[in-house]
Amino acid sequence: MTTARNIVLIGPPGAGKGTHAQLLEKELGIPHLSTGEMLREAAAQGTELGLKIKTLIDGGNFVPDEVMVPFVVDKIDSPECKNGFILDGFPRNLPQAQLLDKMMLERELKIDIVVKLQVPDTYITERILKRAKCGKCGHMFQIEKSEDVCPKCSSSDIIRRADDNLEAIKHRLKIYRTVTAPITPYYEDKGLLVCVDATRSIEQVAAFVRQAIEY
Ligand code: ADP
Ligand code: ADP
Repeated sequence: MTTARNIVLIGPPGAGKGTHAQLLEKELGIPHLSTGEMLREAAAQGTELGLKIKTLIDGGNFVPDEVMVPFVVDKIDSPECKNGFILDGFPRNLPQAQLLDKMMLERELKIDIVVKLQVPDTYITERILKRAKCGKCGHMFQIEKSEDVCPKCSSSDIIRRADDNLEAIKHRLKIYRTVTAPITPYYEDKGLLVCVDATRSIEQVAAFVRQAIEY
């Protein structure tokens, strides 16, 4: 049995990609590459480019491919990815999927598996509106009340995302259906796609994901 090393997680916003990428990172010892995190870090720098990125992501709009792709190339080429990576949030459209293939081929690498986390829209809005991240330990969880603390380390340093509001969610879901959805048949045709029912508990979904990456 082999465990996949170059893993792509896809699925709508709020499906659990970041949650499962974080779990896999711990389990497999290979890095979680989140394009959303890369962009949020760039936005926080406050440079001219950072401010442009912030306006785009806060409104739920994509960052142009020519800005996004170099972030991913730099990461994949970095020594931390020498044993593989878990990509979360990329590719998000067909040109990005084709570029990723080209980039991998040029490096004599390949994507081993694409795991799609499937959830209907009804779950997504609630998950996103309650999404929270601990600023101290990085744990991701669902916040019920504004005074809640991190369930893992009890820190009250809780981070909420500016784009996790109803208006931006609706917009992101629309973009997901029109621009991102075509990457599913693209990977299905390549025989790389495994779909997982992500409506179940985090533990159950993690078990499905683990099963999918062993082949
Ligand atoms: P994505 O990266 O796909 O946008 P996240 O991993 O950030 O999604 O998850 C969105 C929110 O939903 C987080 O608050 C996370 O704790 C929660 N979540 C993820 N998976 C599940 C699940 N299976 N059941 C309940 N809540 C979940
Ligand atoms: P979610 O999983 O909730 O959609 P992410 O953290 O993956 O959130 O992404 C946050 C935002 O960053 C996206 O809504 C989009 O504006 C931008 N973004 C992330 N990845 C990409 C990408 N591959 N191409 C273009 N924009 C991206």
